[in-house]
Amino acid sequence: MRTLVIFMLKKLFICKICLFILIFSFNLEALANNFQYYSSNALKYFNSGNFVKAAECFEQMKKWIPSDPNIYYNTALAYKNSNKIDKSIENINKAISLDSKNTQYYLFLYHLYEQNCLFDKAYQVIEKAHIINPNDENVRSNLAIASAILARDFYSIQKFNEAEVYFKKSLSFKTKDDVLHEIAQTFLKADQYEYANIVYGKILQNTPDDRYALTNKEYAMHFLNEKRSHQAINQKISNTSPNIGIPEKLHKLIIFKNTFSPDTQEKTYKMIGLVWNDEQGRILLERIMKKKIKITVSSSPVKSYVYNSKQQYTYYLYGFIPIKFSLNEKIDIFIEEKSVQLFYENNVYSTERIHALSTLIHEIGHAVKATMTGKIDNSIEEEMGVSMIGYNIANRIINDKDLTSEEIVGKSKDVLLSLLKDEHKYLPLYNNFYGNMEKIDSVIPSNSYIYRDLPSVYELMKKDANVRETHPELEKAMVQRKR
Ligand SMILES: [Zn+2]
Repeated sequence: MRTLVIFMLKKLFICKICLFILIFSFNLEALANNFQYYSSNALKYFNSGNFVKAAECFEQMKKWIPSDPNIYYNTALAYKNSNKIDKSIENINKAISLDSKNTQYYLFLYHLYEQNCLFDKAYQVIEKAHIINPNDENVRSNLAIASAILARDFYSIQKFNEAEVYFKKSLSFKTKDDVLHEIAQTFLKADQYEYANIVYGKILQNTPDDRYALTNKEYAMHFLNEKRSHQAINQKISNTSPNIGIPEKLHKLIIFKNTFSPDTQEKTYKMIGLVWNDEQGRILLERIMKKKIKITVSSSPVKSYVYNSKQQYTYYLYGFIPIKFSLNEKIDIFIEEKSVQLFYENNVYSTERIHALSTLIHEIGHAVKATMTGKIDNSIEEEMGVSMIGYNIANRIINDKDLTSEEIVGKSKDVLLSLLKDEHKYLPLYNNFYGNMEKIDSVIPSNSYIYRDLPSVYELMKKDANVRETHPELEKAMVQRKR
């Protein structure tokens, strides 16, 4: 090839005009030959997945045409596929510097940053692309998603103001539902249910029957409520110091037996402190104090006994008050240590925590009731009554309000179902199925009429799907009531 060059040069000396033309035409030809060689090889290697070789060929091609942005773009692609991210970024930036209007290059760099978790850089690139071409739908969609990702990141490091700015931005672009779905997923995966819930709401505004959005919105709402519920419980706990306001007399009645965890005592005092701080809870505890009823917290599982005329049943509970006592005997309340610990547990459903608190109040309720009537007459109605008073006071403690009538309907159905699922179903019914637990002392939840009418609760309970439990006597009462 070299000889050929010399020969041609010699020949060209003859005519200066020809020289230029020929040299030029020769170089173009050579260039074309070599360029084509690398070009076809680059393509061949790239398509066969040999990206290292493909990148080498693209690098060669740059020597011939150093200002073609597409070669840099191709080089960036080959480097990206061979995991040389820095080289890829370098080349795509060069492509952008050569053609700053090509949104494809920006999109490439954006995805590159995003895939390597450089989210703020990704955002800057796609924002620039959007300024250059605000009508490009692809760019706009990606800017919306990039904003959501930044919002998610600010949220996760608790920079809520910044998160809010980018969250609003992510929803400010006119995009299709599938982009909104991706934004919602970004928040859902990061446990940011508040934002996910809003985005699914927006999708449902556009497409009310989007089943996927409906399901996920429900899911987000559930976990959002869980999160808020845990926060509310934790806040109440942290606002209560141990022993807060509990009178010395009551303090002395709280006994610990073989407790396992060193913090059980403090946790129990706090829990009882919360009940004491509630107006209705205090009425019950004052009665406990007056009658010197001991509250024993024990590590061993407690057994509770239920007697009816025919059989004795034993079952395990978080807490119990022995049913079999006369007023001459000592009336004690037993609470399982596990139940106290559960109230402070963050990795369970919040309902379990509330249940642990209401169990304590439930057992206190039984004890107070026994001191009032002077006889042991536990019944399904009494269980319903103390359970609902327990849940209602627990709700007053955590959420600063009584249960709504709707919540009372839901809870009383749950309580009745769980009573019919275990040995409680053998407890007698009194007072023609109308709750004799009108109130304990002067404690009575609003809307208590809902659960005091057991046949109605039973009827509602049976309407729920998957409920198989039946109770012959309640069945009869329900039918009679209808007539
Ligand atoms: Zn009970």
